[in-house]
Amino acid sequence: MTRRTRQTWVALTDVGRVRSHNEDAVLANPPLFAVADGLGGHEAGEIASQIAIETLRDHAPRKPDANALGRAVRAANREVIRAAQEGVGRSGMGTTITAAIVDGTDVVIAQVGDSRAYLIRGDTLTRITEDHSMVADLIRSGQLTEAESRVHPNRSVITRALGTDPNMYADTFEVDAEPGDRILLCSDGLTGMLTDDAILDLLQRYRDPAVAARALIDAANEAGGVDNISVVIVDIEGPSARGKGFRSREMRLRSWIAAIGWLLVAALIAGAIAAAAWFYARSRAFVVLEGSRAVVYQGVPGELAGISLSWRDISSEVDTTVLTPAQQAALNEDLFFDDLESARRYVRSLPTTSAP
Ligand code: MG
Repeated sequence: MTRRTRQTWVALTDVGRVRSHNEDAVLANPPLFAVADGLGGHEAGEIASQIAIETLRDHAPRKPDANALGRAVRAANREVIRAAQEGVGRSGMGTTITAAIVDGTDVVIAQVGDSRAYLIRGDTLTRITEDHSMVADLIRSGQLTEAESRVHPNRSVITRALGTDPNMYADTFEVDAEPGDRILLCSDGLTGMLTDDAILDLLQRYRDPAVAARALIDAANEAGGVDNISVVIVDIEGPSARGKGFRSREMRLRSWIAAIGWLLVAALIAGAIAAAAWFYARSRAFVVLEGSRAVVYQGVPGELAGISLSWRDISSEVDTTVLTPAQQAALNEDLFFDDLESARRYVRSLPTTSAP
């Protein structure tokens, strides 16, 4: 089931430090995002990547349909081949493409070449795509390590691309994302310069996608910047992202301030109720017959939060043998007065044992 979520995203591309022109192209047209890395040299690679991106934009579904996205990539392939045949760009030009449709938490990916898609969830970075490259084949067959592939002379040779084979197909992937996840699409100008751990470190350090993308490109340039660098970041956010590790510091701070505010309001209300009860009690009085003594209490019977609301005042020994039936009946119950002085006057009016 798709949960409706809010997306924040960024798409950046950078020429790098060595190349004189940028053959990469990026697309951010929600829900469609893509990175393409053109091949074929000046006046060809950038044309191929641009044609691929534009064709994809025109043919891609607006829903997370992996097969339809794959068909849009095949349409892009046909357009790059046709352009070369018609003399646009150069014969043999080509491009990678890695495209994503992000609809709430439903994500589909289509990929050809060595531009990658990653899923970042909490502390984990997962490579969604598998490179179509010579060094990737050598790594998969155990003949090369990841570290060795970074300096291999054929590291830029790709085994599948748009622009050469009319029967080319795209690998497609479906991802059940969660609020708080982050999707990264990138060209090999990033992954050739930075390890997955370095990429994860920067993506975790910077929560703002634009800042994170800039930091990734800067780091790739500092590491040499030998190729064009493209980065697309799509954050999948939503209410249930709270508590999934990607909750922002500002959100946590706001929650704390709100909680403290509510506690203060509750404390003020409780204090006001206690003060009102205390003032009311101080204005009242009652008389109780305790044995043969009539005792005046200021306040009202009972307690509030464990605190008594009555205070013993004067008492008097009463000669109950001479009480009128009405006085006797009244004293058998607690007698209440609107003020302390009235209660005292009543007790003083009763016959006492010391009276003559
Ligand atoms: Mg490249």
